[in-house]
Amino acid sequence: MPGEVAGIMPERRATSDEVRLGPAADARCASVRARCASVRAMATSDLLKPDFTAQRRHFIFSDEHEQLRESIRRFVIKELQPHAEEWEETTFPDSVFERLGELGFLGLDKPEEYGGQGGDYYTALVLAEEMAHAHCGGLAMAVAVQTDMAMPPILAFGTEEQKREWLGPAIRGARILSLGITEPDAGSDVAGIKTRAVRDGDEYVINGSKTYITNGHRAHAIVLVTKTDPDAGYDGFTLFIVPMDRPGVIREKRLKKLGMHASDTAQLAFQDVRVPASAVLGTPGKGFYQIMWELQGERLIGAAGAVAGAQQVFDRTLAYAKQRTAFGRPIGRFQAIRHKFAEMATKIETARQMVYTTAWRFQNGEYPVREITMAKLYSARIAVEVADECIQIHGGAGYMSEYGIERVWRDLRLNRIGAGTDEVMLEVIGRSYGL
Ligand SMILES: Cc1cc2nc3c(=O)[nH]c(=O)nc-3n(C[C@H](O)[C@H](O)[C@H](O)COP(=O)(O)OP(=O)(O)OC[C@H]3O[C@@H](n4cnc5c(N)ncnc54)[C@H](O)[C@@H]3O)c2cc1C
Repeated sequence: MPGEVAGIMPERRATSDEVRLGPAADARCASVRARCASVRAMATSDLLKPDFTAQRRHFIFSDEHEQLRESIRRFVIKELQPHAEEWEETTFPDSVFERLGELGFLGLDKPEEYGGQGGDYYTALVLAEEMAHAHCGGLAMAVAVQTDMAMPPILAFGTEEQKREWLGPAIRGARILSLGITEPDAGSDVAGIKTRAVRDGDEYVINGSKTYITNGHRAHAIVLVTKTDPDAGYDGFTLFIVPMDRPGVIREKRLKKLGMHASDTAQLAFQDVRVPASAVLGTPGKGFYQIMWELQGERLIGAAGAVAGAQQVFDRTLAYAKQRTAFGRPIGRFQAIRHKFAEMATKIETARQMVYTTAWRFQNGEYPVREITMAKLYSARIAVEVADECIQIHGGAGYMSEYGIERVWRDLRLNRIGAGTDEVMLEVIGRSYGL
């Protein structure tokens, strides 16, 4: 009945005053009009033809980000990529840090007062993505340890003196940093670490060991997670910045590993290492919460690197599938292979959207732990799946070292373990629902 409908939603015309729109709505209307006009223009041709080769920029990035991307990519391809093979054997030289520092790439999102570029979080994302062009996962990881694992806690929790002493030189590439969480008996279970720091007057005495420490052999300092009060539960942890030349810091063996050969991975021992109380980073007793915060940035940048690595190996494999022939045609023209590319591209795009949306939240002041965890889990998984399929598409060549595809798989495989395993990510996500 018209009367009943009118009773719920009284039918009346808005006056011209009531429908006046704000500037944002005006802009939206203009954009809709522009899109309609372009569709009309296209419709005059015989068919609407999508342009799959068009470069599409994600909305989180500006022209400045794209210029930065271009300049990092040019540098990486010209100065880093040619050494990828050699550095697999030798690990990369420390001078790479100095060069990156000289170009300003180690402090893109760090404050200008410490020598950084003062950029937003997306600039860090751009660096992580473009480092994939080095074809050298170990180098990309070592740089990320410096910029997105060791520096952020110093910046967030450090005293002015600590920032001047460590952050500025690390941004210049003159000092190399590492981060020590994992121990021989405690990795996923961070609260289970045993490294002890005991107060002795104006000093602390540190004893314990750390393992799998990236940059551990070359580092000038380590951001170290210790236990200061074993009876205080999560409130018994304290972070320190420990100079690696302190007596009692022992760089034990250089660990051999499946991939990431260009990076150095150390086992470290701390035997009665004395540091002044001023070496405490942040609030004594709050180290557990501080390192959990650090892990969020580490996981998000790792996710961005994993997606970029997957895109790299996809692009290289696509080029291969277009030129490699079998049964009289390029292998990419077989439906079975074409569908592999379709599956991979869809996964990469999904992961990328997760990373970018989560980065937007991060940049805009949210603390999106669940989303970061999802992005890290998903990106790591699909990156390994993509690299595996790329080996398959290359056939025997994919298994051979000279093509570098098997190396991408070996390097990317770490993403499902480092910074928190898949299983731990699932735990974090599951528990976030109150389970
Ligand atoms: C190349 C490389 C570089 C690294 N760099 C650094 C670094 O610079 N600094 C640093 O501190 N660490 C570093 N790590 C350590 C890395 O973060 C740890 O390896 C990772 O967190 C896993 O810990 P773990 O190796 O002790 O495995 P464990 O904790 O022993 O786990 C073994 C298995 O048990 C599973 N598991 C554990 N707990 C649970 C649970 N609650 N539920 C279900 N399954 C579970 C794990 O998922 C895994 O499958 C690096 C590791 C590698 C390999």
